[in-house]
Amino acid sequence: MKTISHWIDGKVVAGTSGQRWPVYNPATGEQTGAADLASAAEVDAAVETAAGAFRAWRSSSLAQRATVLFAFRELIDRHRADIAAMITAEHGKVTSDALGEVARGIENVEFACGVPHLLKGGFSEQPSRGVDVYSIRQPLGVVAGITPFNFPAMVPMWMFANAIACGNAFILKPSEKDPSPSLFFAELWQEAGLPDGVYTVIQGARDAVNRLLAHPDVAAISFVGSTPVARHIYETGTRNGKRVQALGGAKNHMVVLPDADLDMAADAAVSAGYGSAGERCMAVSAVVAVGGIGDRLVEAIAERIPKVKVGPGTDPASEMGPLVTREHRDKVASYLEAAALGGSDVVVDGRRSTPEGAGFFLAPSLVDRVQPGTMVYDDEIFGPVLSVVRVDTYDDAVRLVNDNPYGNGVAIFTRDGGAARQFQFDVEVGMVGVNVPIPVPVAYYSFGGWKASLFGDTHMYGPDGIHFYTRTKVVTARWPDPSTSTVDLGFPRNV
Ligand code: NAD
Repeated sequence: MKTISHWIDGKVVAGTSGQRWPVYNPATGEQTGAADLASAAEVDAAVETAAGAFRAWRSSSLAQRATVLFAFRELIDRHRADIAAMITAEHGKVTSDALGEVARGIENVEFACGVPHLLKGGFSEQPSRGVDVYSIRQPLGVVAGITPFNFPAMVPMWMFANAIACGNAFILKPSEKDPSPSLFFAELWQEAGLPDGVYTVIQGARDAVNRLLAHPDVAAISFVGSTPVARHIYETGTRNGKRVQALGGAKNHMVVLPDADLDMAADAAVSAGYGSAGERCMAVSAVVAVGGIGDRLVEAIAERIPKVKVGPGTDPASEMGPLVTREHRDKVASYLEAAALGGSDVVVDGRRSTPEGAGFFLAPSLVDRVQPGTMVYDDEIFGPVLSVVRVDTYDDAVRLVNDNPYGNGVAIFTRDGGAARQFQFDVEVGMVGVNVPIPVPVAYYSFGGWKASLFGDTHMYGPDGIHFYTRTKVVTARWPDPSTSTVDLGFPRNV
């Protein structure tokens, strides 16, 4: 069984806390490793090293940073399959999905390769006679990223590519459930020429996070995970004077208007509802059937479900793998019990067709006539349980989405461009798809939800990422002839 330890100052450092977290292969149910859980003292040592590395890295030229980033990009590109295999081994998602995760992560590294352009400031010549004003962007210092289990490679890349490109030292605290890619990235950064200490990995859980939140030398925290923890991170981090962006959970709706192509909508609902076993923050969780299309839509989804191949992520034939842990699998399955008790129709019960064995599998499930106010609708299930909510009108659908406390992603399926445009205007959600069920923005936009899906002022990656990881300085300069100098106690005027 392997031990997954910290990466500090350019080398693997064994944990000293005596605390470890079991890491499983979700497809077999076997424990394959144990991740060290850092104590506060270990976090302190890592922050000290990172703070030392920051002082040198912030003086590096943009040319040097771009060179390192290009080299890192080439290395990840070469190791796509290795990273995907690590993801599948600890998270469980199928290989094609893991490769997709790596691909979307690399886009963020490619964006950060343009750092010389991204850090350009503004310049105003002659705002007053003989005066110039210009702005520059400078790094924050030591910044930390705390990431969830469901994207062990992509979400760290969302954060560290821009953070490091901007001249910060970055500390990653990955999910304790699938920590291996974090260390592999460390090796690749080193091979790419990144100075030791600029990228640090602290394995850990609550104690490590709480120390990062309290540490006076950590300038900013990026977090992605569930809403209760996101709220805690935001409130504690900002109370301690840190810049914080904390992305939380989701309940994503897919609104299907009566004029939509129902086969296309059913294909999209199955793909976005059960892909990655529903363990995506942008997964479709609630299909909203508008008007009289409910029966036909439910039938179209239900007939596709038996064709979804559930099996180990390493089997090229599998389309959906297991859930991440036994506890999470059992919790997701419990919603099927709750659905029946809450008066909904369990149209497809995945417990009946789940593969045999000790793996953490649960086959796709479909619940119809789900109502707000029931657990199945109100909770973020984060598993392969798709709900259908039936409403009469477009206005009812918009009200349903806008009344939901989450606001991460939403999609509308229609052939009516006017309706889609009105929806984009009306809906209180951060990322909108028009006939696109999982509207994750490309790396040169930014990712983020509204309401209880995001705490903080900036979205993640893209232009918002560059803003988050830098602070602006504005310089006002003049070079007058000393012979014209006088004492003037008046407030500076522009003339
Ligand atoms: P989680 O909130 O349990 O854990 C996220 C991170 O926080 C992990 O690194 C974990 O070690 C740490 N953590 C957990 N409990 C903590 C506590 N009490 N104090 C301090 N740190 C703590 O989330 P998860 O189960 O790993 O991931 C799934 C969740 O993440 C879902 O809610 C999903 O919607 C959300 N998510 C959101 C986005 C987004 O962009 N909005 C993206 C991916 C995942």
